Amino acid sequence: MDFKKYIRDIVNFPKQGIVFKDITPLLKNAEAMHSAANSLFNLIQDKKIDKVVGLESRGFLFSPLLAVKLGAGFVPIRKPGKLPSEVISTSFNLEYGIDTLEIHKDSIAPGDRILLHDDVLATGGTAEAACKLITDLGGEIVQCNFLIELDFLNGREKLSEYTIASLIHY
Ligand code: 5GP
Repeated sequence: MDFKKYIRDIVNFPKQGIVFKDITPLLKNAEAMHSAANSLFNLIQDKKIDKVVGLESRGFLFSPLLAVKLGAGFVPIRKPGKLPSEVISTSFNLEYGIDTLEIHKDSIAPGDRILLHDDVLATGGTAEAACKLITDLGGEIVQCNFLIELDFLNGREKLSEYTIASLIHY
């Protein structure tokens, strides 16, 4: 399927100068949604996975679907103050300012085989921080997979120690 037909560019969102890849046309189309979920699953299929870790918020859209298909659990990584139990946190640099991500301390057991999923890999800062949280808890990152990878931002350089797979490349 030509998934790019279902991704639209929104100019100057969420800030002036940014061209945002909007995935909502893909999500609202039953065939495209089904095909995207299957194709993301095919990126990892033969590997045993214990937990799919999804990034707030658009990483939550496909992560539980992948978890069900893989026979794995789902673990959320969230923005500060959202997770109710004990967390570990990490902060990372954004273009302007810093951001923080949190994960429940008891969400990953040492040796758990992890698939990290998010909708978009841009500069890689978010995924790099997520990988740090996962490995700090003793998780083994089997693959990081993304619906969209913005190749021109070289985000995968920050994730060079991991296996990266993306469905749609720009
Ligand atoms: P990074 O940390 O790799 O620069 O940014 C990735 C994060 O920002 C992801 O969580 C993703 O949801 C969000 N993001 C950055 N650019 C875009 C975009 O163009 N479209 C969408 N849907 N999300 C984006």
